[in-house]
Amino acid sequence: MFTIGSHLSSAKGYRQMAADAASMGANTFQFFTRNPRGGKAKAIDPDDVCAFHELAAQAGIERFLAHAPYTLNPAAKKPETRQFALEVLSDDLARMEATSGQMYNMHPGCHVRQGADVGVDLIADALNQVLSEEQSTTLLLETMAGKGTEIGGTFDELARIIERIEVQDHVGVCLDTCHVWDGGYDIANRLDEVLDEFADTIGLDRLRAIHLNDSKNPCGAHKDRHARIGEGEIGFEALVAVTEHPALRDLPFFLETPQDDLSGWAAEIAAIKAARR
Ligand SMILES: [Zn+2]
Repeated sequence: MFTIGSHLSSAKGYRQMAADAASMGANTFQFFTRNPRGGKAKAIDPDDVCAFHELAAQAGIERFLAHAPYTLNPAAKKPETRQFALEVLSDDLARMEATSGQMYNMHPGCHVRQGADVGVDLIADALNQVLSEEQSTTLLLETMAGKGTEIGGTFDELARIIERIEVQDHVGVCLDTCHVWDGGYDIANRLDEVLDEFADTIGLDRLRAIHLNDSKNPCGAHKDRHARIGEGEIGFEALVAVTEHPALRDLPFFLETPQDDLSGWAAEIAAIKAARR
């Protein structure tokens, strides 16, 4: 079963996201848990969750990926910034239990010139404060482009965070094709070698989701500018090959490509499905 969808607006609730996903031929979706710049989250409506489950069952939607605001920085130098990240993460994880057994993705953080070692420790400390054995949600750390002082631009940095986490069975990784490409991993020409490196450092059992994006920049650019599938430097064929790879093909794929409306993602999904073997 090929599981693919895109990032959607959560403004009208869970049921509407399932309806939007189904309308464009998707069987999964991603959304921000709150304003991506980190405002207050809307209360979860139990009736909406109920209606969502009903529609999702009809539409064959079993999994989704919630995304933390990208401005959170649990590796910040300022204690107030770290505290804010902790509050949002723990509130989001509590809210995720309304739809149990799903996944929650976050950008690990930026070390802001404190050095990667300090950043790795701060992120692991934060996660150890918000993760608990009782949660049903799996928290995913996203592979980053290595822009500025971002942590997670190398598989090794993610592995070092994960090994410090106490609740080991609730942590995974989301691989973003644009980010790893920008980070210097040549998935267009050396996909097998890149996945071997992932297996050796993090372990393939940790890989739970793929952000499927093309990149506006060459491999190793450390930029993080997403392009539509086939309109960037990675290219259509290489991205379809990612969806076909035996180690990846059963994972959920999420498009975060710049589109004006749902029809853009519907067209991308149709094109990938038509090309994928
Ligand atoms: Zn991403």
